[in-house]
Amino acid sequence: NVLIAVAFGALLLTWLRVRVRRMTEPLSDLAEIMSRAGQGESSVRAEVRGPAETRAIAKVFNLMIEKIEHTKELLESEVAIRTLELREARDAALQASRLKSEFLSMLTHEIRTPLTSIKGHTEFAIQDLRFIEDAGDIIKRLDVVLGTGREMLEIIDHILNYARAEAGKAEITISKVDLQNLVETVASSLQPMVVKYRNELLVCLEGEPVAELDEGKLRVILNNLLTNACKYTADGQIRLKVECGVDNLNIVVADTGIGIPESQRILIFEPFNQVDKSDAREDAGVGLGLAITKRFCEMLGGRIEVDSRVGTGSMFSVTIPLPVRRKPPMARS
Ligand code: ADP
Repeated sequence: NVLIAVAFGALLLTWLRVRVRRMTEPLSDLAEIMSRAGQGESSVRAEVRGPAETRAIAKVFNLMIEKIEHTKELLESEVAIRTLELREARDAALQASRLKSEFLSMLTHEIRTPLTSIKGHTEFAIQDLRFIEDAGDIIKRLDVVLGTGREMLEIIDHILNYARAEAGKAEITISKVDLQNLVETVASSLQPMVVKYRNELLVCLEGEPVAELDEGKLRVILNNLLTNACKYTADGQIRLKVECGVDNLNIVVADTGIGIPESQRILIFEPFNQVDKSDAREDAGVGLGLAITKRFCEMLGGRIEVDSRVGTGSMFSVTIPLPVRRKPPMARS
């Protein structure tokens, strides 16, 4: 009897073990599949087996995974469409910007030619009239025409320079530049403005007298910084320091003028940005001078910085590493 009872007990135990395994195995398989899905494995599916509750959980899990995959596919195709649209819009905008710059560059070039001719003829007429008596009034009027023509030419030149740089057409031309001669020419061309605002212009040239640079761009940089210093300073002092070493050309233009508020010190290098847009002074420009200056500095591999205090003055510093490398002109993207 005892033997029968032991045998029955062992049989019962084995049966129970099989039952328990049948119930827990599908559950632990399901747990493993869920953890793989949780770790990001794709296309996982649970086997629908085991007790009714386990089969129900497996079915719900499979349905959920299908929905997630479907949503993911939808999102991916949506992202692909949007990326394509954005790329097309960006290309169209770049093309439009290039066309606009080319158009501006062509237009300003066309206006510049007759304007230069008007200026030249007016200058000749003034010279001739100086030998005629009682021509004082006409000379005065022609002087006004000449002054206005010069202003228009300056604005046209700014737009032309900017449009050329934007269209990637401003090339770098390297030659030996006589720094003393360049500085003297720029300074003397600005003399009327220095006198007009009763300023004193001090020039200091140090280091190498000749540098291998793009003379045209350097002239524009010097001219724009000095013109601004003259325009925004009255009864004060403007200092220009050009220091040419073996590795760098440093330019500092400092003035004792109105200064620039801190909040504007980055914005003034953006095109058409002016601190005081209501500025109605005679020599107020169009807000392109510093944008061109910055662009030219960068084209030459250099940089421009500004330090200023409102009511005390401003200091613009340009550093151009030497020798200047001839990089292919790039349109702004
Ligand atoms: P603008 O033709 O108006 O002078 P710029 O691009 O040369 O255009 O300069 C942008 C603005 O920066 C100017 O309108 C002026 O407000 C400010 N600015 C530039 N240089 C000076 C300076 N030396 N002192 C004070 N403000 C300046």
